[in-house]
Amino acid sequence: MRIFDPHIHMTSRTTDDYQAMYDAGVRALVEPSFWLGQPRTSPASFFDYFDALLGWEPFRASQYGIAHHCTLALNPKEANDPRCAPVLDALPRYLVKDSVVAVGEIGYDSMTPAEDHALAAQLQLAADHGLPALVHTPHRDKLAGLHRTIDVIRESRLPPEHVLLDHLNETTVKAATDSGCWAGFSIYPDTKMDEDRMVTILQNHGTEKVLINSAADWGKSDPLKTRKVADAMLKAGFTEDDVDQVLWRNPVAFYGQSGRLQLDVPAPDAVHEGNSILRGGE
Ligand SMILES: [Zn+2]
Repeated sequence: MRIFDPHIHMTSRTTDDYQAMYDAGVRALVEPSFWLGQPRTSPASFFDYFDALLGWEPFRASQYGIAHHCTLALNPKEANDPRCAPVLDALPRYLVKDSVVAVGEIGYDSMTPAEDHALAAQLQLAADHGLPALVHTPHRDKLAGLHRTIDVIRESRLPPEHVLLDHLNETTVKAATDSGCWAGFSIYPDTKMDEDRMVTILQNHGTEKVLINSAADWGKSDPLKTRKVADAMLKAGFTEDDVDQVLWRNPVAFYGQSGRLQLDVPAPDAVHEGNSILRGGE
């Protein structure tokens, strides 16, 4: 079984996690840039983080036989902090990097005017760079947040098939799929969405344009949730081909729209030497 985790924050995971993911079948992943928990006080700390997602983290992943790509953006929460807003102006020089396969995570946190601005500006950046966008839907006010998100996407120049709406659940899946966007589901250990509910959604909505991720980070989360969904699908009567579509071919098709997916894992030495030229800060 080959697995592509399309949303996981490896910065906050250990080498044991990389090994366990490889053993479970994970061969590729996408790491979206996100809020680090501790508020950042200047654009410079974003740039060091972006460089880590472009250089250091792919090197770590390659040591465990996993292809690593990233999505870069000013996240919704920090879009509200004027100290961080200048990141928007610097993003174009990062979005040209080879391993950036989308703009993200973008979207709404509290649905403020500053978030409106950052979301629209970054959808435009995605369109300008020929990249898809990873758009997170808010955990609070989920359905209202989703409708507002879809309105902003419709007003943008980015076609819906270049947008992945993430963190969906039973209440938002219909509106999301009706919009023409791809549908992402994050599977968590105890709250929000689990593997059995995910299987029911797949039975009701089918396997087209659906992506499943662990969204594992520093919080309570499980980097093997992709594999656990695959096993639950097989137990429920889905075929191996269905599993391959949802856990591999769909993420490859979505992020492949960037033209930048590189699924052969380079030798760790090659990645490490590439660090200096991958840096975006100069
Ligand atoms: Zn995330």
